[in-house]
Amino acid sequence: MSAIDCHQLSKSFGAVRAVDAVDLSVPEGEVCALLGPSGCGKTTMLRLIAGFERPDAGTVRVGGRLLAGDGTHLAPERRRVGMVFQDYALFPHLDVARNVAYGLGRGRHDARVAELLELVGMPGLGARMPDELSGGQQQRVALARALAATPELVLLDEPFSGLDAGLRAQVRQEVRAILLAAGVTALFVTHDQEEALSLADTVAVMRDGRVEQVGTPEEVYGRPATRWVASFLGEADVLPAQVREGYVECELARLHLDPGFAGDAVVLVRPESVALSIGAGASRGPRVEGRVVEREFFGHDQLVHVELPSGRRVRSRSLSHPVWHPGDRVRVQIDGPVNVFAPE
Ligand code: ATP
Repeated sequence: MSAIDCHQLSKSFGAVRAVDAVDLSVPEGEVCALLGPSGCGKTTMLRLIAGFERPDAGTVRVGGRLLAGDGTHLAPERRRVGMVFQDYALFPHLDVARNVAYGLGRGRHDARVAELLELVGMPGLGARMPDELSGGQQQRVALARALAATPELVLLDEPFSGLDAGLRAQVRQEVRAILLAAGVTALFVTHDQEEALSLADTVAVMRDGRVEQVGTPEEVYGRPATRWVASFLGEADVLPAQVREGYVECELARLHLDPGFAGDAVVLVRPESVALSIGAGASRGPRVEGRVVEREFFGHDQLVHVELPSGRRVRSRSLSHPVWHPGDRVRVQIDGPVNVFAPE
């Protein structure tokens, strides 16, 4: 069963169709990332689900319950949806325990607060004030508060954007573990591809108010539905190609693939699918000589820009050895998956 079901959800602001007939379902207990560039409608989607915006059309259901649309509009506090805001929005004058208990209403909630602080890895820190916490800890308190009233769904708005790069990778794995331990369904908004791919079970890629593709991280990265998704989700170079009977031919290779159409095509190749080597290696396949024009070194790996005989350039990503230099003559081969699209 789906924890969340949005059907033909739409919202415009004046002439801007911020969310345009979006269908989105997230199965119970899964973490879904809404990923897209700035202005594509991610935050509006979240606000429609949370109840801060009213849809112009379409419906929002959580756990089968109609929350918005078809004449219904439940107030945010009646939706059983927890929210973690981008800046965490902790109350600065309340200690950690009171911040967490905020979502639980009147009365004493010591046992539940202790349980939640344990869940987010902060046992015994209930008496701290928010300004005595690191960014990562503040975020965990915000998450504990969102989980306090055992929501069916937690929404997270750019949850890692306030953290520095070093902390991000660590905190996002912690957050994922907490969400899984809580068994809650989560939908988070991000414009960061790496964040979406590393954290989510499902990624919904948004563009101009619409969902362009939904799939596992491996699907949206490895089998992008459109050229736009391919380019947005990582690096890719484009080579003109021809689809012939049973194969696709481009400057680098004859590929035994059937894209389901004939004639002109483009091959999108990611840098990790381009291999470089020197000299007369014994490997088979067509021989394409290129010239290294640029190398970017990242410590753990390198990105090498190579000019092909046609003058087109492709990039190759590999571990840091061997070290390539501008001017080196190299053999260029496709060594990994590629995607074939009809030209636009
Ligand atoms: P970002 O990553 O920059 O936050 P986003 O993908 O979350 O962007 P939204 O904030 O949902 O995008 O905005 C989608 C579109 O709707 C944008 O063109 C934005 O300018 C417009 N928009 C959003 N909220 C309003 C509003 N309250 N009034 C007018 N226009 C709005």
